[in-house]
Amino acid sequence: MSKQRIVVTGGAGFIGSHLVSKLVERGDEVVVIDTLLRGNKIPKDVFKQIEFHRVDVSDEQKVADISKGADLIYHFAAILGVDIVADNPIETMETEVNGMQSVARAAIENGIKTIVYASTSGVYGHLALEKSVDEEILVDPRTSYAMAKRYNEIYLASLYEEKGIHSVAIRFFNVYGLRQDNRMVIPRFFEQATQNSPITVYGSGEQTRDFTYVDDAVKASILLGDRVKGFEIFNVANERESTIGELAEIIKNMTQSSSEIKYINAPKKRYDYEVGRRFGSSAKLERFINYKPNTDLQTGLDVVYKALRD
Ligand code: UDP
Repeated sequence: MSKQRIVVTGGAGFIGSHLVSKLVERGDEVVVIDTLLRGNKIPKDVFKQIEFHRVDVSDEQKVADISKGADLIYHFAAILGVDIVADNPIETMETEVNGMQSVARAAIENGIKTIVYASTSGVYGHLALEKSVDEEILVDPRTSYAMAKRYNEIYLASLYEEKGIHSVAIRFFNVYGLRQDNRMVIPRFFEQATQNSPITVYGSGEQTRDFTYVDDAVKASILLGDRVKGFEIFNVANERESTIGELAEIIKNMTQSSSEIKYINAPKKRYDYEVGRRFGSSAKLERFINYKPNTDLQTGLDVVYKALRD
């Protein structure tokens, strides 16, 4: 693949920063648009090699100007995290809807043919009841975040019909790895365990998640960006279901922590959003790009823990 000029919105965030590193590593010219609201997670040596713009993705004119000459846009900027979304539902939706509007305008004005969009497994709501979910099942978004992500998926489908802009919407399943905010469960449990303070499991701990290692998520994103035609939706899931109680045990043992595993009621706003069971099928992804996430949870957790100790 020849060198491309690639715009990454949200490039300083968790998944975005890993994506930026990989794109720089393979020799692409990378342009990052980010407000730095949650800090800058791009490693220093990588940051020196990119073009950076501290700009809100909702700023249509600036995003269009910055994107001139780009081949591809990865639109990964978002407000996320149950706590923040629950407190700021309107801003969450505005960022999604206005951000996509800007990205679409930039693509149309500049003749950019491809958009890769970070959607969410949250669009499935409470549907993952008996089996892993695939992309065919009817979605059931329950939060402003998931609802806005679903809206953008449909918007991208129409952008292809009306303007011929190719895109993929990636439904990520609980991505984890280095540099993740400790608002999310894995870094949070590591922090609690290494401080020997209680590991706080919400509810019964029987709720499940499908944890996808960030390097796998990025690899899938890059392969999709290179190959997408038309409009497609893909799950990016590890296809392994873990209970949160089990996760707490694993992290406690790994860290040889004296923390107590404390089963507590989730804060009210979280409780309202809690999904009982979630795990995904990456079969479609494998069919299209001959790759699916394959890092098992223990291997990924080992990397995270090693970085904490170094
Ligand atoms: N969780 C928990 N204790 C915490 C933080 C989270 O038990 O201190 C649980 C949470 O209730 C959910 C899972 O961990 O079932 C994943 O939470 P996270 O916020 O990482 O992602 P979500 O899947 O809720 O978007």
